[in-house]
Amino acid sequence: MMSISGIHHITSLASDPQRNLDFYAGFLGLRLVKQTVNFDAPDVYHLYYGDEVGRPGTLLTFFPFPDAERGKRGAGETSAVAFSVPVGSFDFWIERLSRKGISFLGPEARFGQQAISFEDPDGMLVELLEDTSGDAKAGWPGSPVERPFSVQRLHGVTFTHRTAAATSTFLVDGLGFTPAGTEGRRHRFLAGNEGERGLIDIVEDPAAPPARQSAGSVHHIAWRVKDDAEQLEWQKALRKRGTAPTQVMDRQYFRSIYFHEPGGVLFEIATDTPGFSIDEPVDALGSRLQLPPWLEPERSTIQRRLPPLRLPIPAAREPR
Ligand code: ZN
Repeated sequence: MMSISGIHHITSLASDPQRNLDFYAGFLGLRLVKQTVNFDAPDVYHLYYGDEVGRPGTLLTFFPFPDAERGKRGAGETSAVAFSVPVGSFDFWIERLSRKGISFLGPEARFGQQAISFEDPDGMLVELLEDTSGDAKAGWPGSPVERPFSVQRLHGVTFTHRTAAATSTFLVDGLGFTPAGTEGRRHRFLAGNEGERGLIDIVEDPAAPPARQSAGSVHHIAWRVKDDAEQLEWQKALRKRGTAPTQVMDRQYFRSIYFHEPGGVLFEIATDTPGFSIDEPVDALGSRLQLPPWLEPERSTIQRRLPPLRLPIPAAREPR
């Protein structure tokens, strides 16, 4: 059976784009790897954060609607997004959170790893997990967060569901996830078989009210496949299971199909190719508004409607 090999990206909703940029690039130290627009509604930014080159598995993206109200946390949604940080970096992060006046919970043990959790400016729950399997080359030289502490990649997500059964069955039988134990009400599943390249915890909360999606809500989770052929295999397999994936959509930096898991969370399957250097060199990633060819003729109108962004000034750092 085919199995999902890990997270490609996670996409969430936000309100003020500048505040979002200041938090994810300025505070967490991710690189803004692409400024573009929502291809389906080009009067809204689509901001992509990731590592130096925007590798799949490091990408967190946002649609910031400047006046959006906060969403309500509840059942049937992704209730937390976790990043890996190097073992031993928590003192740095605790000090950084405290200096910024951001309240946090933890460190607390979870399946043998230490976790800290806090909210982003729109109320999305962000978690940092100490991870021994980190990649020493992760992060990027221009980050305000130095390398021994830098965010490595997306570690996984937490779903809040009233019951875990339907989603669990779908993850294991439909997508090839491996069950990896239960702690209290938390049930863990690993993407594929090769370790933690994307995990899902389902927290069962029978009393949770239904979630309401708006700023601070996760919109969807994208899982990675290496190319178009593999994506079509998944489309076929999902149809056979009675799940109705969409047509393939061209997202410029990858191609995508979408479907819902039984608990209500929107999933995407996205290709690793062609990647983020398709329309600007790696050195210049995120420095200028990029539009796909079909929106380029409307550039001046689109740009006029978008609030201007003050980009972070990359830290001067010795080349690695
Ligand atoms: Zn997506």
